[in-house]
Amino acid sequence: MRPINKKERLLIVGAGQAGFAAAAKLRALKDDRPLTIIGAEDVLPYQRPPLSKKYLVGDMTFDRLLFRPEQWYADNNVEIRLSTRVEQIRRDEKQVVLQDDTVVDYGTLLLATGSTPRQLPASIGGALSGVYVMREKRDADLLAEAMLPGRRVLIIGGGYIGLEAAAVARHRGLEVTVIEMADRILQRTAAQETADIIRAIHKAHDVEIREKTVLDHLIGKDGYVSAAKLTDGTVIDVDCAIVGIGVVPNDQIARIAGLDVQNGIVVDEFGRTSDPSIFAAGDCASFPWQDGRIRFESVQNAVDQAEAAAEVIGGAGAPYRPKPWFWSDQYDVKLQIAGFNLGYDQTLLRPGSREGAYSVWYFKEGAFVSVDAINDATAYLVGRKMLELGINPHPTVLADPLSDLKQLLRT
Ligand code: FAD
Repeated sequence: MRPINKKERLLIVGAGQAGFAAAAKLRALKDDRPLTIIGAEDVLPYQRPPLSKKYLVGDMTFDRLLFRPEQWYADNNVEIRLSTRVEQIRRDEKQVVLQDDTVVDYGTLLLATGSTPRQLPASIGGALSGVYVMREKRDADLLAEAMLPGRRVLIIGGGYIGLEAAAVARHRGLEVTVIEMADRILQRTAAQETADIIRAIHKAHDVEIREKTVLDHLIGKDGYVSAAKLTDGTVIDVDCAIVGIGVVPNDQIARIAGLDVQNGIVVDEFGRTSDPSIFAAGDCASFPWQDGRIRFESVQNAVDQAEAAAEVIGGAGAPYRPKPWFWSDQYDVKLQIAGFNLGYDQTLLRPGSREGAYSVWYFKEGAFVSVDAINDATAYLVGRKMLELGINPHPTVLADPLSDLKQLLRT
C-alpha cells in the first residue's frame, strides 16, 4: 500500500447538506484520495428541512433525517470528525487549525459551513430564556420541549421558517402570533398573491398575523421571556418566542484567511474561491448569477453546487448553472417553487383544478422566471419543465383555468 500523502487530503469543513453531498459525489466519482469531513455539530450529517416540519411535529425520528448511517462513512473510507470546529485556515501551510489547536493538512479544501440564524440583540431581550432560533437538531429539540399545548408563542419574522414554525405550533396546540416588520409576510421571497393565500391559510388555523409590526423589546421575568412590547406600544403576553429573521453566511474563517468575502465566500462558477486550492458551496457561498452574485439558502443549491464543485475537484466538471427549486410545508399545504423570481415585474394567479390549489407565475421583462405552486403538483412540474426547456407560456393562456398546462409544454 502506498503511504498516504497528507497533502493529497480532500478536506471538507462543515458536515451538513453541502459537505455530505460533496463527499458522496467524490466517492461516486471513484476519487479515492483521503477524505475527511469536519463538523461542529455532534451528529452525523442530516437534512434540516424536517426540523421545522415533521420532526418538530414529532412525526419523524432523527435517524430518518440522517443522509447515511455511520457505516457508510467507514465503507466509503470517509473520515468524519464531529463536535469539531475549524477555527483557522493557514493557507500558506495548507492546514486548518481546530479548536484544540491541532492541525489538519489538506491538498484541497471545501468550505461548506452553512449559515447561522440572525439573533435578536441581547439589548432587546434576545438572551432571555424561552427565546429560540431554528437551525440545528438541538434547536428543534429545545423548541419541541417548549411547545406545550396552551402556551403562547410569539414568532418574530413572517418568512418560511417562521410560518412553518407557526403551523407546527398550532398543530401542537399553542396560541400563535406572528409579527412581520415588512408590509406583508414573505415580502422578500414571494409575490403578494402567494402571501395572501398563505396568510389566509394561517388565519383559518387561528394564527394571528400582524404585518408592519415591529418588536420593540422582549420583556423578561426571572430571566424568562414573559411578554413582548411592540413599537406601536402594544404589549403581548407570551411564554416563548421564536426568532426567524433570516440567516448570515458562516464566512468568518474564510474572511480571516484573506479569501474574498462579500455576503458569503466569493466563488467562481466552478465553486473556486480566490485561492485555487479552496472551494466553497452551499449557504456560505456567493456565486455569479446573471449580472451579479447571489447566495441561495436551499437544499437544491447546497446539493447541486457541492456536487458541481466535487466534479471540478475530481478533475472534470462544468460551470454550476443553478436550476433553483424549493418547498415549504405548512399544515397540509405544500408550497413548491421552481425558478427564481428575483426582479419579477409581472405575476399571474392561476386557480388549480381542485379546491385549495393555486399557482402564481412570475415574469420578468416578458420572460417566465418562476412559479409558486400551492397544493398544485402539476403546476410545479410543468413550470419546472418549462424553465428547463426555455418555454415562455403566454400569460393569457395561463390565466385561463381551463387551459391544459401539460399541453403548454408541447407548444
Ligand atoms: P448546513 O446544512 O447548515 O451545514 C453546515 C454545517 O457546517 C453545520 O453543521 C455547521 O455546524 C458546520 N460548521 C459551520 N462552521 C464550521 C466550522 N468552522 N467548523 C466545523 N463545522 C462548521 N431548504 C429547502 O430547500 N427547503 C426547505 O423546506 C428548507 N427548510 C429548512 C428548514 C430549516 C429549519 C432550516 C434550518 C433550513 C431549511 N432549508 C430548506 C435550508 C437548507 O436546509 C439549507 O439551505 C442547507 O442545509 C444548506 O446546506 P449547507 O451544507 O450549506 O449548510
